[in-house]
Amino acid sequence: MAVFKPENVEDFYEIGEVLGRGHFGQVCKVRERTTGTYWAGKFLKIRRSACSRLGLERSSVEQEVEILQAVQHENIVTLNDVFESRAEVVLILELVSGGELFDFIAEKENLLESEAIEFMKQILAGLGFMHSKNIAHFDLKPENIMLSDKVSPNPIIKLIDFGLAHLFCPGEEYRSSSGTPQYIAPEVISCEPLGTAADMWSIGVITYILLSGLSPFQGDTDEETLGNILAMKYEFDERIFKMTSSMAKDFIQKLLVKNPNERMTAEVCLLHPWIKPITRKQEARRNRSSINMKNFKKFNARRKWKMSYNMVRMCNRLVHLKLVRKGTTEPDPLQRQCESDVEDTETKPTSLLRRRLSSSS
Ligand code: ATP
Repeated sequence: MAVFKPENVEDFYEIGEVLGRGHFGQVCKVRERTTGTYWAGKFLKIRRSACSRLGLERSSVEQEVEILQAVQHENIVTLNDVFESRAEVVLILELVSGGELFDFIAEKENLLESEAIEFMKQILAGLGFMHSKNIAHFDLKPENIMLSDKVSPNPIIKLIDFGLAHLFCPGEEYRSSSGTPQYIAPEVISCEPLGTAADMWSIGVITYILLSGLSPFQGDTDEETLGNILAMKYEFDERIFKMTSSMAKDFIQKLLVKNPNERMTAEVCLLHPWIKPITRKQEARRNRSSINMKNFKKFNARRKWKMSYNMVRMCNRLVHLKLVRKGTTEPDPLQRQCESDVEDTETKPTSLLRRRLSSSS
């Protein structure tokens, strides 16, 4: 069990710029005072009382910490330290400074399948390691696949955000309805017992998007998206997938399988001929096929726009709530920082989960 240090984090780390925001707090660049080393500090608001509806249960942060400690792997973000005060827990994480994989790819003029596969291999290696420890991530999406740095020609994949991850006990039946609609497996929607196979579905969706710039089940609303997933409504449009190899399509088809027991595992994926070609012909096909860059760039721009829109909407809602409570129209800039700064009396715990569900679809 990790030690949650009761000391003030600022006595040990200088807090710098905001790197990103999540539903329960924000992530800032921090500098260790004794060594000068830079880290990422993830500040998580903790629910102050049982009747409070905002912030995270301490037990859920304990679980995130326990999981991060169990998954020490090159392709998974490392946890260095944990601090705790009355209202928040701060996770001191390895600083991942290369940004999101999708942003890195979107800046390229073109990308061969063989180049995309090098990233897929690393994602699968990290995931396979987690799964071998009976841990599922349950929130795999482009925002949570980052790169180690911006300078090296071959940056290393780092999987982040273990806020929804789960460590399975032997024989445990675990159900959860959290996740992001575009990427969640059918068994999540139908509230069936879950396993690590749910992550493999998300890998199928991410690979489909990576190759085509289209999201396979995306509907006009979250409800429509979830319906498309349950109905297994997806196709490989020839006009979009004309540059895609048949091996890549086969790889996706073996992941977007309704029955979780029939889906490829991460270990099996690493042996699929698209990832590990056996013949010269297979190898050559990966070098002739490329990702649909024009579409991919469009997808990524739209994704980033939606992320910013959701963040602004969330902040505006907070400010509005705060003002209604105060009975004033004077905005307090500090209240804009994060959703969980304010007690949201309108929000029930279940809808907090649902908000996570619809965070960036
Ligand atoms: P969500 O509510 O979306 O699940 P969260 O509160 O669990 O989010 P994270 O997803 O872990 O928070 O982090 C939010 C953002 O902060 C990320 O999208 C990323 O941009 C940035 N971030 C997180 N961890 C790191 C890190 N170790 N290094 C650099 N940036 C990071």
